[in-house]
Amino acid sequence: MSRVPYVAGNWKMHKNRGEAVAFVKALVPRLPAEVDVALCVPFTDLAETAHAADGSPVAIYAQNMHEQPSGAFTGEVAAPMLIDVGADGVLLGHSERRQYFGETDEALRAKLVAAHDAGLRVILAVGEREPEREAGETETVLRRQLEATVGRIGADQAAATTIAYEPVWAIGTGRTATPELAQEAHAFIRGLIRELHGDQAADAVRIQYGGSMKPENAAGLLVQPDVDGGLIGGASLDVEEFAAILQAAAG
Ligand code: PEP
Repeated sequence: MSRVPYVAGNWKMHKNRGEAVAFVKALVPRLPAEVDVALCVPFTDLAETAHAADGSPVAIYAQNMHEQPSGAFTGEVAAPMLIDVGADGVLLGHSERRQYFGETDEALRAKLVAAHDAGLRVILAVGEREPEREAGETETVLRRQLEATVGRIGADQAAATTIAYEPVWAIGTGRTATPELAQEAHAFIRGLIRELHGDQAADAVRIQYGGSMKPENAAGLLVQPDVDGGLIGGASLDVEEFAAILQAAAG
């Protein structure tokens, strides 16, 4: 089954509103056909980037949300609020959220359900830390993270969830996974979705690679049969670099 490549930028805690809107305006004319594209932006940039991207294929995502639709949760933002400011989706489970904000798989499952129920698209990030890879535990970690989240939602919602495989040791370090290593992990993830939700979901689900993807290494990763796109941190802050990765995804 052929899947449309999907490339998303994760700006993390970067770019003020002016920088964000300028980026979207510069990106739109550089978009290749046949590649889905998203930008995961800080909450404060959502409304204006969504406005700037209006009518273009660029989807605007938040980088986190709370699982409740409203309530006494100071400092949090709910799915209906994201929709209200024009967001199309939400990135969930990034390793920085797991590491610095204590996000558990159980909490992520609740967020995943709430996001889908509200009509947001979801990119769910999973991946092993370096000691886990060294101990040969990569597949155990991926299984635990995925069974507890996409394994506990319906097949349709699972298939509609984009999974980002992000080996934590490759994020922001310049140490990209080799194409072979990425393919191995992606094939494992697709096999797991097959086991949990059947052939249709496994063939439809899109799996992005994330971890120091750059214009120089993107093509080798994106050509792998189970690598359906990328989640890009550092290189998504520069419009030329990000557009070059989109071109690589277009093939
Ligand atoms: C990320 O933060 O999701 C990421 C992949 O970062 P980088 O591309 O900078 O490694």
